[in-house]
Amino acid sequence: MTAKPAVETHAFQTEVQQMLKLIIHSLYSDRDIFLRELISNASDACDKLRFLALTEKDLYQNEPGEASLGIWIEIDEQQKTIRVRDNGIGMSHAEVIENIGTIARSGTREFMARMAQQKSGDNDAGDNAFIGQFGVGFYSSFLVAKEVTLLTRRAGAAPAEAVKWTSDGSGEYRVETIERAERGTEIILKLHAKQKEYLSAQRLRNIIGKYSDHISLPIYMRQPAQPGADDQQRQDPEPPPWEAVNHGSALWCRPKAKISADEYNQFYTALTYDPQPPAVTLHNRVEGKMEYISLFYIPSKAPFNLWDREQRHGIKLYVRRIFITEDAKQLMPNYLRFVRGLVDSTDLPLNVSREFLQQNQDLDKIRAASVKKILAELKKIADKQPDQYNSLWREYGRVLKEGVIEDFANQDAIAKLLRFASTHTDSLNANTANATASASTSASKSADGAAATPNQSVSLDDYLQRMPAKQKAIYYITADSYAAAKSSPHLEIFRENDIEVLLLFDPVDEWVVGQLNQYQEKSLQSIAKGDLDIAELTGEKSADNERDEQADKQKQNLQPLVDKIKAVLKEQVKDVRISNRLVDSPACLVADAHDLGGNMERILQATGQDAPNAKPILEINPQHAIVKQIDASGELADDWAIVLFEQAALAEGASLKDPSEYVKRVNRLLVNNA
Ligand code: ADP
Ligand code: MG
Repeated sequence: MTAKPAVETHAFQTEVQQMLKLIIHSLYSDRDIFLRELISNASDACDKLRFLALTEKDLYQNEPGEASLGIWIEIDEQQKTIRVRDNGIGMSHAEVIENIGTIARSGTREFMARMAQQKSGDNDAGDNAFIGQFGVGFYSSFLVAKEVTLLTRRAGAAPAEAVKWTSDGSGEYRVETIERAERGTEIILKLHAKQKEYLSAQRLRNIIGKYSDHISLPIYMRQPAQPGADDQQRQDPEPPPWEAVNHGSALWCRPKAKISADEYNQFYTALTYDPQPPAVTLHNRVEGKMEYISLFYIPSKAPFNLWDREQRHGIKLYVRRIFITEDAKQLMPNYLRFVRGLVDSTDLPLNVSREFLQQNQDLDKIRAASVKKILAELKKIADKQPDQYNSLWREYGRVLKEGVIEDFANQDAIAKLLRFASTHTDSLNANTANATASASTSASKSADGAAATPNQSVSLDDYLQRMPAKQKAIYYITADSYAAAKSSPHLEIFRENDIEVLLLFDPVDEWVVGQLNQYQEKSLQSIAKGDLDIAELTGEKSADNERDEQADKQKQNLQPLVDKIKAVLKEQVKDVRISNRLVDSPACLVADAHDLGGNMERILQATGQDAPNAKPILEINPQHAIVKQIDASGELADDWAIVLFEQAALAEGASLKDPSEYVKRVNRLLVNNA
């Protein structure tokens, strides 16, 4: 016989200790969630066993099989304990230490990080709301218990290889090997005196009804004692029989018409822990060649980790109501990563492996159909409830834009959903400014304060509708902030002629317009690139011969200056030419039609990528007082050339290599002109 290892005492991982402290001392009032967490773990454990047993037939041994999987909850008023037992997969000695002693889950680490952030602030109430939202898992036992005991035996292990784990949550836990006949896990909570209320069966039933009703395994509790049966019970110590206390039927399998909005919302909260009701609920049963049910939700607020591509909640996959996997990446493209919910397929085999999932064509088809459904729903909202759509766009617009780049097949549908700021909405800003601090509006960083938070509600269709018939392209400008886009010198001629220009200031926009190229057969054209066809913009004016002649003459007069500037700036610019897009500014930089453009180059450089660093073209405004007074053969011509170039770069949002040199040069010109 091998000697059983004695009781071992371990210290919790530091993060766990911090978390436990937080939980134990929290003022969090909604302690009910401890039961939700324990039931959710028990249910996961049963799902795991069922899943593994599909390929490892002997996991059930001669113990209760699949049909008997369940969760049992029992109260002992004398002992002041609650027991939550399951006959799921259980844990080995090593697994107990690994799973219960450390925080392996990224979700929990995030929780801690978020907590630490909050700590630097001062609100305790805010802190505690997180506990409910994230779910601190197993550790939430300590919200109500002064001591927690866990008894577990892994499926397939011998009775002598069971494990007992105990802790009072203060830094250490004890583990020992024990004998245990039953497979699975039992958690025994010794309640704090203050938490006696949980010794009421009715109280626990209510909590189960609220949080865990959808769990498809039966959750059993003892039948309530019959009134007046007291005496009889004393003689007969047999406890009352078990009864299932949850509804048990998967909500998504019920007909739509039979599900209330409240039930949908409750299910959403159970799924996501998000206390706010979802913005969109989309429930579909698909029949025909493929049969499946999908239930999708779009949260009203973006999760704070929307930008963390590693952290994806994804869509749960079920096969005939049996849970298969949590984060079926194949079911939703990256750009719809804010969608939550599940797919339940009738056709997939149950014994699916991860590899199988990765290349399954049925899943691909379900995904394609789901994406179409979601995009169509978004379009419907955009058409019928533009205000609601705008708030969805604020939350998820930047993620959705990735779709233009990632999902060629649906590019058109996504293009219809895009929203931008434009010169047309400039004037609307004041009243629609929305200074939400959500992730999606972080584009409004930098100089544009809350008052200038742009109205981003212009769709490409709006633009097409407003533009005059003769206009050939959809015009846009990109910059690194709304303020910079809005005040770009390139806009001058467009403003003067009342031509709408989309103002793009989100880095991803560069890729969006690059990828989209055209919309409804109108090309998307940057107003900071290439030659500008002024005739198209000003219409009949250009047919004016007199004006043409005048322009020609002006060109001749300015030729010496253009040549001079070209010579001075030959290292910095590709060309110097007379502009037809400037009204108030003396000069601007333009990229060649096929170059990336200054904004894109700066984005690439900022993210450490290779940028080709193409030289721009300098355009000068022949009408501008400064340009008119420069003496091309004068002493100051070099300074003027460089200042014009550097000012144009500054106006574009570039930074100067040598700002102090710029200042000196400007001052020299000021003195000499005085
Ligand atoms: P999560 O459930 O999100 O993983 P928890 O803190 O709730 O986080 O649980 C941590 C881990 O402990 C689980 O992932 C699981 O491996 C293990 N565990 C908890 N409860 C049980 C149980 N009843 N049966 C088997 N394993 C469990
Ligand atoms: Mg859990």
